[in-house]
Amino acid sequence: MPDSLIHPDLRFHSYGTYLRRRFGCRVSKVNVDGGFTCPNRDGTRGTGGCIYCDNASFSPGGTVAEKPIELQMTEGMAYHRHRLGSEKFIVYFQKFTNTYAPVDRLRDLYTRALAHPEVVGISVGTRPDSLSDEAMDLLADLAKRHYVCIELGLQSMDDAILQQIGRGHTLAEYLDAVGRIAGRGIDLCTHLIYGFPGETREGFLRTADLIAGLPVNSVKLHQLHAVKGTRLAELYHRGEFVPITHEEYVATACDFLELLPSRIAIQRLFGSAPLAIRVAPTWDLKNNQMWYSIVNELKRRGTWQGCRLTGACLKAGNL
Ligand code: SF4
Repeated sequence: MPDSLIHPDLRFHSYGTYLRRRFGCRVSKVNVDGGFTCPNRDGTRGTGGCIYCDNASFSPGGTVAEKPIELQMTEGMAYHRHRLGSEKFIVYFQKFTNTYAPVDRLRDLYTRALAHPEVVGISVGTRPDSLSDEAMDLLADLAKRHYVCIELGLQSMDDAILQQIGRGHTLAEYLDAVGRIAGRGIDLCTHLIYGFPGETREGFLRTADLIAGLPVNSVKLHQLHAVKGTRLAELYHRGEFVPITHEEYVATACDFLELLPSRIAIQRLFGSAPLAIRVAPTWDLKNNQMWYSIVNELKRRGTWQGCRLTGACLKAGNL
């Protein structure tokens, strides 16, 4: 690859490689449930949540708020140590909106996570409308001594889609949050989804241009999928949500990567839900098959992350 940030086999800048470069060893993220709620569910911004939201679908079993985070961390670390040989850990506050609480409670949870000798940092999943000045000051202070990443849900840059899916925030609020995070020593990861009803590939790919112009360090992307008990599942059963095909998703994910600067690490390229609650799409692929379908398509095209920005794909006659 022409760029040292790009993994030669994967053809993109993987977050795993980023962490290894930064910390000099294998680092895994360990999910914890800090017992938060979400302003898009408790009535502050909305009550129904996003149409696809069912937190059970993206929280591994065992991270229940009733358990102290220390216990959740111990269990998660043991799993990753045994399975992957991980030496250090980032505690990922994942479930619901993990800055949506009084700052004293945030300080207590974050500092307890960072107190573990094998924990190098925290990653905090949140919404653009839920970053108070106090929470920002706390995270910026912790970032002076630890790795701190804010994972900000944007999902779509199209306000019409954000409204249609009940996100309860706008693109302008996302941009405002990015501006407030910038320059404070905090990493920023943006969450995106492709496949919303009425969304076009061209429309989605404009997101790569947007992200390329922002101080975003990493991205998580996944296909829109419906799980049991969500409004999206109801739409699917009524024929009002038609999931994209696996081929369409892979092609678009590769186009997206080709347009994304290599400095941005890729944390995720697809989503999965437990079989018991999965409604649609049903691609019947294991996680590694999903991952490698994108890697293999880049290989087939002879392209890599960011190659369209330098014209390298075009020069090579690959597109
Ligand atoms: S912002 Fe997250 S937690 Fe809140 S309703 Fe949407 S998907 Fe669910």
